[in-house]
Amino acid sequence: MATATSALQRMYIDGQWTEAEGGRTKAVINPATEETLAEVAYGGRPEARRAIEAAHKAMPAWMKLTPYDRAKVLKKTADLMRDRVDTIAKTLTLEQGKPVAEAKAEILHAADTFEWFAEEGKRAYGQIIPHSVPGKRHVTLKHPVGVVGAITPWNFPVTLPARKIAPALAAGCTIVIKPAEQTPLCMIQLLECLLEAGAPPGVVNLVIGEGPAIGEEFLQNPLCRKLSFTGSTAVGKQLMRGAADQVKRLSLELGGHAPFIVFPDADPEVGAKIAVTGKFRNNGQVCIAPSRFYVHKDVEKKFTEAAVEFSRALKLGNGVEPGVEVGPMIEERARDKTVGLIDDARKTGATVLTGGKKSDRFAKGFFFEPTVLNNLSPDSKILTEEPFAPVMPLLNFSNLDDVIRAANNTRYGLSAYVFTNDLSIAWKMAEGLEAGIIGINDPVPAAPQCPFGGMKESGLGRELAHEGLEAYLETKYVSWKLKD
Ligand code: ADP
Repeated sequence: MATATSALQRMYIDGQWTEAEGGRTKAVINPATEETLAEVAYGGRPEARRAIEAAHKAMPAWMKLTPYDRAKVLKKTADLMRDRVDTIAKTLTLEQGKPVAEAKAEILHAADTFEWFAEEGKRAYGQIIPHSVPGKRHVTLKHPVGVVGAITPWNFPVTLPARKIAPALAAGCTIVIKPAEQTPLCMIQLLECLLEAGAPPGVVNLVIGEGPAIGEEFLQNPLCRKLSFTGSTAVGKQLMRGAADQVKRLSLELGGHAPFIVFPDADPEVGAKIAVTGKFRNNGQVCIAPSRFYVHKDVEKKFTEAAVEFSRALKLGNGVEPGVEVGPMIEERARDKTVGLIDDARKTGATVLTGGKKSDRFAKGFFFEPTVLNNLSPDSKILTEEPFAPVMPLLNFSNLDDVIRAANNTRYGLSAYVFTNDLSIAWKMAEGLEAGIIGINDPVPAAPQCPFGGMKESGLGRELAHEGLEAYLETKYVSWKLKD
């Protein structure tokens, strides 16, 4: 049997490592060096169809297992990921660019996600509902939704598939996963953990290839009952339209444009440290990254000075090197988009306090200097479009109600951040902000047991937590009449 460690990295369909029809392949590029890391099999609709059929065939046996038996596979997957964290982290850094320490944290978070859903699958409880008519009885049962098609992006290439595979398998569903074409290699290593942990053929299938074609097959193939997508709002909307024909179940985790609001009661230098940590993690290429910084006028000067100092001190470089804190951006296109956002901000009056350009310290790689801007015009693109870039735009405010209004003035509603030690302010902000995830003095709020997802155009449904399991379950209501 060919394995994922052969020179050509393959897809995995129906228990077999397979090439694409016609032998098509695509290169995976190291964003720090621009070198080719590997060639991967690159398919489309036919492979997606075969994978859905395999998942459909595998589902009856998988859903008949007890949640306790399915949990064994998920728990063992978590253990194997922890054992192999160094190897998978290196692969992740090579293909995605983030520093190895961040890559390790991502893999451990994903392993925790597998372990958590192994347990939560045991709690897919139905209900006994009190009857109102004598002699009747009412109960609900939980039923797996069916074959799942999952599409994930490149920014968290292990964690985001884990948020779909773990709850789907725990619920008794089978799955076809399509990772981003920039980052398929660490997904292959995650799949190897699942297979060694005992996932039977057809239960997890990996299809690498053209997003639109594979998405079309997920939408149009009636054997695929649910689509779970993490990615851009534009593609999410397209999939939502396409899902209507078959009333396909949908989970969407889309873009964000998170406010980070700094109140004057707490030390602005501490606030700046938290802000810089949240902003430049993974180069700001994070759906929950803070991207509009509202700083109270009383602490604006101190916060700004500290934010500039901390941003300048970040060590930019190849993520495999020790001590590097910020790696390259994912690709040239992403870096060009960042240049465009900064040009637009400059034209509309913004001041660049630090960074603002491609780094000239590297002959190769998509490096961009961590950037801080102020004096922004409210209609500059960086404040209205999801930036996905290492750029911190600073704004100011003086009144709580005004800042809530400004923070909510966006079609997004994924995350929001508040820096304060004042309990009343924290509570009012938590109530007033239109965001699915709110970090109070916490720039990295995601945890397997806590719901993750957005309001407004940031998505539909929640991942992680009990809601993340419910997303793969249908509720069946059963009513019966007893004999007199
Ligand atoms: P990003 O800009 O972060 O790459 P995308 O939404 O374009 O965000 O991509 C996220 C994932 O969606 C990737 O796996 C990509 O291949 C896939 N994708 C892109 N376009 C489509 C589409 N039209 N239908 C289905 N999947 C798509």
